[in-house]
Formats: sequence, structure tokens, C-alpha cells
Amino acid sequence: MSSQVSPDEDSPRHDPLRKPDVPDNVQDAIRTLIEWAGDDPTREGLVDTPKRVARAWLEYCQGYQEDPAVHLSRIFEEVGGYDEVVLLKDIPFQSHCEHHMAPIIGKAAIAYLPRNHVVGISKLARVLHGFARRLQIQERLTAEVAQCIWEHLKPQGVAVVIEANHACMTARGVRTPGVGMITSRMMGTFLEDERSRKEVLSLMGY
Ligand SMILES: [Zn+2]
Repeated sequence: MSSQVSPDEDSPRHDPLRKPDVPDNVQDAIRTLIEWAGDDPTREGLVDTPKRVARAWLEYCQGYQEDPAVHLSRIFEEVGGYDEVVLLKDIPFQSHCEHHMAPIIGKAAIAYLPRNHVVGISKLARVLHGFARRLQIQERLTAEVAQCIWEHLKPQGVAVVIEANHACMTARGVRTPGVGMITSRMMGTFLEDERSRKEVLSLMGY
């Protein structure tokens, strides 16, 4: 990072970290929601809230700006004959449910059985985040991650298990904190062969 900032670079137009503009209609929508919830959007503490909320939502939904498959485009052919399970587990993620726009907070385990090539292990987490940073349901998130790896890595098998808490359940409605939901998607070998499935689930800690 450079400590020298020319006046030009200092101007908002040239600042790469410049906060995105929030159109009036978006701010109005959030003001309406605050009022609907029972507060006064013109009081001091809430004056800048519509802008903050709008920008936060751009971040929560960053996944719409990317194709998660790009993370799987760089593959490594030299695997030294390795033909066993590759597993990344306890990957923390955040998403938002499409029914309430409430947080989904959880962790994922992603495994695949390579066929001739592998990807950098962090890429699996990037694929997950690409799909999680959208409005989601946990079932579809699980399926999308598995399908993306299946299509672009063409492995012998894919297994994805996601465990998450849904704020729409824990903070409202039936208010059941601590209740987690588990979803899984198995493809290829992990779907067809019970022994492989058991093995990968046990590696994942299930
Ligand atoms: Zn919900």
C-alpha cells in the first residue's frame, strides 16, 4: 500500500474503495421499511442507515456479480497418482434466505474424488461463497455448489454437506435458537457406491 496519495487519486472519482452511490428510490425503500417497523427514519441515528443498509446488501449479494465456475478454470494435471478423496471441511459461510432476507449462517464440507486433475483447495470455498452471496434456500445452495464442481471439474464423485442456522427460524417465527439444518448432495461415486458415501461422510465428521 502506498502512503503517497496525489490530490487526484484522493478525489472520490479515483478512489478504488469509493463507496457505491445509492439511488434515491433504494434509500426510500429502506426508509419505508424503517417506518413500517415502527421507528422514525428521520431521527439522527437512522439518517444514514438507508445508505448503509443498501451498501451492505450489495455486499451480501456480491455473488450475482460473479460466475462461481471461474474459480474452477485453473486445474492442476499433476496429481502424482493421487486418486483419493479431496475434502475441505468446516468452511464458514453466510448467506440470506430468499423468503425473509434473513441471515443463514453455517459451515460446509465439500469433497470430490478427482479424475486426473485437481484444483487449488481454496477454490472450493470460493465456489461456495459465490453461490452463498445471493438470496438462497439451503437446499439449492447445496445443489448448486455440487453441480458446479461436477460440471467443471468432471470428477468421479462430489459430496457437499451444509449445516446452517437460519435467522428466520431462530430470531422470529418459532424462535428456536440452536436448531441447525443439514442438507447434502451426493453425485457420481458418492451417490452410487454406499461404501464411498459412508467413507466421505465419516471424513466429514458425520
Ligand atoms: Zn427464511
